[in-house]
Amino acid sequence: MAKLPIPYKIYLSEEEIPRQWYNLNAAMKVKHAPFLDPATGMPCTADALEQVFCGACVAQEQNKTDLYIDIPEEIRDFYKMYRPSPLVRAYCLEKALGTPAEIYYKFEGNNTSGSHKLNSAAAQAYYAKKQGLESVTTETGAGQWGTALSMACAYYGLDLTVYMVKVSCEQKPYRKEVMRTYGAAVIPSPSDTTEAGRKILREFPGTGGSLGCAIGEAVEKAVVTPSCRYVLGSVLDHVLLHQSVIGLESKAALAKYGIEPDIVIGCVGGGSNYGGLIAPFMGEKIAGKNDIDFIGVEPASCPSLTRGKYVYDYCDSARITPLAKMYTLGCGFMPAPSHAGGLRYHGMSPVVSELYHQGWMRAVAVGQNKVFEAAEYFARVEGILPAPESAHAIRVAIDEALRCRETGKKKRILFGLTGTGYFDMAAYKRYNDGEMSDTVPTDADLAAGFATIPDIPANK
Ligand SMILES: *Cc1c(COP(=O)(O)O)cnc(C)c1O
Repeated sequence: MAKLPIPYKIYLSEEEIPRQWYNLNAAMKVKHAPFLDPATGMPCTADALEQVFCGACVAQEQNKTDLYIDIPEEIRDFYKMYRPSPLVRAYCLEKALGTPAEIYYKFEGNNTSGSHKLNSAAAQAYYAKKQGLESVTTETGAGQWGTALSMACAYYGLDLTVYMVKVSCEQKPYRKEVMRTYGAAVIPSPSDTTEAGRKILREFPGTGGSLGCAIGEAVEKAVVTPSCRYVLGSVLDHVLLHQSVIGLESKAALAKYGIEPDIVIGCVGGGSNYGGLIAPFMGEKIAGKNDIDFIGVEPASCPSLTRGKYVYDYCDSARITPLAKMYTLGCGFMPAPSHAGGLRYHGMSPVVSELYHQGWMRAVAVGQNKVFEAAEYFARVEGILPAPESAHAIRVAIDEALRCRETGKKKRILFGLTGTGYFDMAAYKRYNDGEMSDTVPTDADLAAGFATIPDIPANK
């Protein structure tokens, strides 16, 4: 049979939306270290985690054995509003670059929240409702996660309070209005509504806030409010599990044309889109079935994988969350302001951290100007205005394609295009005006962050 030409977009049907998530934890032969309770230094029990998170999510978090976990029909129904997402063959980009490489990207920006975060928001809101909860809390940095969760909470009928990092609230007032339109209450963080917020305000009056501080506020609020839990949009294993729909759909679409990628690239903030994109491909690599080059791309301003330490650290700067073993810059690390807000997190998913530590993937850090150069090039050639976070992956996909041009190798490159840049026009303005900064932390900056890593026996 003649080989079918590969179309610009490979679509799946609604029927082909995955019926199960892929649990990368079960595929890993060596599991990541457990979360520790800071009070006892012992692994967190499910009971303790259920005080903060929904029960179903805790069970998924601790599931290290089932490779596939069923997606409830009610969640698939929500997914049908915006999935399957397109897998695009970047013919125009290939041509412009003059590369023999084949470039594919999975676009997750085609929903109102504008990013992949909706994939886990839907699942977490559904499980909270099913458990009979009345409300949930969360934090948001750049605003994508808060928006996604507002959409999901509106759909399933849950109240939501979002602690939004104060600087983002001021920089992105329209994000806040989108959330309010979906019914969420949005509070700039640090705020005087929690002990964690009041403490930061006393210590750093006038601070613009940080994701770590907002997490601290949201967790505290959830714990003191009856019938309320906290939900997190990245980092945790169950979030990566929900995001595996990205990788599963990509794999199914590529398989229709017999394509297997040689390189898979994603941006890494807390690691959720990347963990989800690579999941089924990485599972096969661990099983010895492929030799894909996996690349996680982070901003040079917040280089947790390439310059961080692999130790136990708090997930928030208020130091009230459990301790996670992860690559971290220190829970007190304050990254320079950057326009890839979704990538400004001091730590990294324990799953991604462990994969990196074991050598299953590599990491690259890129500077902000090079990222926006790639974003603009991509917008002009492929037509899609990318989120600054996603543009980190574009940068490295372009670099790899240019390497293929030099070597003449016809590699197949897949990258995750996690979101749209519509809410980031202030960042594009700075770039267009030639005013974009490229702040990279000095060794002394990093040392100051490392000094905030807890001095506990597990880190000796
Ligand atoms: C939040 C976000 C990211 C980074 O988060 P991960 O958990 O690392 O995936 C990347 N891209 C976009 C568009 C985002 O909104």
